[in-house]
Formats: sequence, C-alpha cells, structure tokens
Amino acid sequence: MRSVSYPVEGYQTVGGPVRDVQNMGSCELHKTGDDLHRYGNGFYETGHGRLHIGCHLSSSGGYLQMGKTALSIGADTFQFFTRNPRGGKAKDIDPDDVASFLRLAQENDFVQIMAHAPYTLNPCAADRRVRAFALEVMSDDLARTEYTPGNFYNFHPGSHVGQGVAAGIELTADLLNRILRPEQTTTVLLETMSGKGSEIGGRFEELRQIIDRVELKEKIGVCFDTCHVYDAGYDIVNDLDGVLKEFDEVIGLERLRAVHINDSKNPFHSRKDRHARIGEGSLGIDTFANVINHPKLRRLPFYLETPNEPEGHAQEIRLLKELYRQR
Ligand SMILES: [Zn+2]
Ligand SMILES: [Zn+2]
Repeated sequence: MRSVSYPVEGYQTVGGPVRDVQNMGSCELHKTGDDLHRYGNGFYETGHGRLHIGCHLSSSGGYLQMGKTALSIGADTFQFFTRNPRGGKAKDIDPDDVASFLRLAQENDFVQIMAHAPYTLNPCAADRRVRAFALEVMSDDLARTEYTPGNFYNFHPGSHVGQGVAAGIELTADLLNRILRPEQTTTVLLETMSGKGSEIGGRFEELRQIIDRVELKEKIGVCFDTCHVYDAGYDIVNDLDGVLKEFDEVIGLERLRAVHINDSKNPFHSRKDRHARIGEGSLGIDTFANVINHPKLRRLPFYLETPNEPEGHAQEIRLLKELYRQR
C-alpha cells in the first residue's frame, strides 16, 4: 500500500496556505450553523437566494476547463470523476491549472465542487484485494482533493455481495476509518443508493449505521440522490416532507450536504437506478420544483447526473432556475 501524502503543509492556493483554509472553514460553519464558504479564502457560500446547481462534467481537460464549461451552462458548481470511472490511474494534478480554477471559482461565486469516486470501487467487497484497491484509490483521491480545499468527495457505500448488510456496513465503516484524516478539509459524502442487487445505502438506516461506526464523524456527510431514493422506495413524489422527516429522524438533516438531482427511468420502488432527464421520468417536473424549493433543501448545492450533453444540461439548469422561487 502506497502511503498517502497530503499537500496540506505549505501548499499555496490563491488565498493562502491550505492550513488557513482548514482553520477558517468547516468548524466555523458548524458553530454558526450558517453555510459560509468562499473560494480562495476557503469559504464557500451557499444560500444567497439563488439556486446552486451544476452537472457532472468530464475532467479530461482539467479543473479550469471544467470551471469554464460550468460557467458556460449557467452553473456555479460541478461534479467530476477523480479518474477513469473504472478506477485507473489518476492524472497528475497541475498546480497552475488548480490555481487558475480557484481564481475563476472565486470571481464567479462558485460553491463547493464534488469529486466522485469511481463507481466500480467496492469498499465492502468480499474479496480482500477488491477492498484494498478501493482503499488505495480513495486514499489517493482524498490526497488529491486537498488541492481544492473544503469541497466534497462522494462515493457509493458498496455492495455486500452475499456477506449480508451488517458485514457490508462494518467493512465500509472500517475503510472510512482507515482513510479519513483529522487534517483533511474535504467532506466525504455517502450517497443514498437505489438498493439494487446487494447495494448498501438503499435504506437511510444503513447509512446511519456506517456513520455511527466512523470515528471522524465531522468529515462525513450524505448526498441525497432523488432518482436513487425514489427507486429505493422513498416516495418523494407524493410525500417529500415525510421522506425528509424520516431522513432527519434516522440520519439527521445536518448531515445532508448535497443533492444529486436526477429523474428516474423506472417506477417507484423499482430498485433499478437508471437516471432520466429532469421532467422526463417517473419523478416529473413538479417533484423537482418541490425538491429545489423545499426549506430543508433549497440552500444545498444540486448536481445533475442526467443523460445529456452540455447543451441539454444548460436547458435543465435554465428550467430549474425558472422554477426556483425567491424568498
Ligand atoms: Zn448520484
Ligand atoms: Zn445512479
């Protein structure tokens, strides 16, 4: 296993060393209960009365290119894979590219960006080598995300592949305990899953049980995927309030940090996980108007993972901004 070095010591961003970012960032956030952050100085603001939204983008052109693409489609954030989704070697980070991106992000009031782990990793695989690979990739990803401090790293909790839910939960929590560091500024997000196959995370209780076993809980949050929760049997079409109440009782809404905003190609409780464009699936446009305007959700960043080219994403972003009500 390769040892992980974090670029925390002495690494300069446009706003100063990452160490300062850490001191100014998430602790203050939780003390005040106010989402105050801004790029460069390590703060990222959400909740200016505008919708914070972006979509999944190709990372092949680097950070600055993603930032420019996001701007061109009306986004103030984006998601990207840290490496080939099948988990190959990541490209070297180019500090000039990162610095240029951070400047662009600051000038344009970007909110937190989301790095997404390769979806083929299985942190709770039965095969030790598969788990070791997940650990190695995720450790390396967390070192890399420190170049853009204070953002999100989202991953799928994994599939227990016949070992049982309880065993899967133990293994995923164990992996998190091995990779989380007190000095990291990245918040690691567990994604709500559709529950297909032997996936962990189709029930809120399963995410709660993972979080319960994590030592550095302040580094952990949850990403709520609208397609996945609906496919998993949480009826956000007819009872969004009830689902969020249940989320709050089981996990706690303070852990909810981001939303994957996707329609679903399949009916309620299908446990399928196939994303549709906004308004073209079983959730429908009224559900999305409710989701983005809900008092418990409207300040969060939203990330589209819909099957679209940039022009299609630009249209979805325009549509959702029209549906966003000013308060
Ligand atoms: Zn998702
Ligand atoms: Zn999905």
